[in-house]
Amino acid sequence: MIKFRNIKGTHDLLPEQVAIWRQVENIIHLIMEQNGFGEIRTPIFENTDLFIRGIGTDTDIVSKEMYSWTDQGNNLLTLRPELTAPVARAYIQHQLSNKNPMHRLYYLDTLFRRERPQKGRQRQFHQFGAEAIGSPNPEQDAEIIAIAYNTFEKFKIKDMTVNLNSIGSPQIRTKYLKLLRSSLDKVQSKLCGTCQNRIEKNALRLFDCKNSNCQTLLDQNAPLIFDEISDSDYLHFDIVTRILNEVGIPFSHNKKLVRGLDYYSHTTFEITSKSLGAQDALCGGGRYNSLIEQLGGKPTPAVGFAAGLERLILALEKNQFSEKSPDIYFIHLGQDATIIASRIANDIRIKHEKVVIFEVLRRSLKAQMREAGRSQAKTVLILGDDELKKNKIIIKNMQSGEQKEIEISKLDQYFNNTSN
Ligand code: AMP
Repeated sequence: MIKFRNIKGTHDLLPEQVAIWRQVENIIHLIMEQNGFGEIRTPIFENTDLFIRGIGTDTDIVSKEMYSWTDQGNNLLTLRPELTAPVARAYIQHQLSNKNPMHRLYYLDTLFRRERPQKGRQRQFHQFGAEAIGSPNPEQDAEIIAIAYNTFEKFKIKDMTVNLNSIGSPQIRTKYLKLLRSSLDKVQSKLCGTCQNRIEKNALRLFDCKNSNCQTLLDQNAPLIFDEISDSDYLHFDIVTRILNEVGIPFSHNKKLVRGLDYYSHTTFEITSKSLGAQDALCGGGRYNSLIEQLGGKPTPAVGFAAGLERLILALEKNQFSEKSPDIYFIHLGQDATIIASRIANDIRIKHEKVVIFEVLRRSLKAQMREAGRSQAKTVLILGDDELKKNKIIIKNMQSGEQKEIEISKLDQYFNNTSN
């Protein structure tokens, strides 16, 4: 027999894990709402071209990580590898700019990238992120960084670093890239194959290379884009840093943080945590003033971040989440008692909104009691044929151990008057 297994790079989440995920998700929704962001949900797949145009052909995502296929109607489709381009597409399609000059959108959704799976890196994973569309001003950049930082703070993530940089406006990019390429002319052949490829196609990404030899060559030869940005770009960056200082968010200025997606400009940032190990990035983001125009919309400034939910859950202390135990474990013995007990359990769930675990394995009283204890239910109800004959039911308070018999018809009254 074939034993089916989940696809490499994907994960099943079992109920104990989902219980933590749900609590984490609820807190994220709450934080986003507190900041005035509204949730957006876009389809899981889009036209492949959206990502090619949005992210850029020379990025890892587009060149080698997308799950794409041609459907029966000859449409080239892709499972979304990120959410900024789909959100921008929806923003343009629904003409949101006509409704309000400012849109604050957030998402918490599933993504797909065909990366090499390892701890903290899957092929199907989840991101939450915020996109503030409409403001060109640095206070918006600072607010986006603060939302990301405060979210991780709320989950008590340890050893965090906020790396911040500015890559300036797109206008300076062409001049800078020329300068960068010419400064690397004499050492080009000593760079790794990937970097040699990137020099022509996506030279900013050279700074993302993990190869220490490439990094040394860059340190010795390459100019940094931050040193080339214009005065107004610098002022923008300066205000972001002043707000972060005022708000009390610690950051380090990392001039090598460029983030290699085509759509970024001005502010770029990344938050890492040492508690994650090799894949230490909790989130990344920045300003992307050209994306909406690039996708066919009106020129619209925007800034946002995307954070990995799996990474956040890996980094947080699980014991800050409580396990929910059932309100009631319902023990019953004998056929007639089982039938009546089924009706009572149903009534209690509907009328009193209690969590009721109903015995269905027809175990002995002793075994059912043991299971009730294991479930950590607050109350145990016991109905046997003997009690049924008297129209009574036993209620046991599992905290105090106190046990009493009451009339079945008084159960409603009992649950109305008790917090258990
Ligand atoms: P990116 O969209 O590449 O800027 O990634 C934003 C964040 O998503 C990263 O900082 C990670 O926390 C998370 N992330 C990216 N790729 C993966 C992956 N393959 N598996 C799990 N989390 C990821």
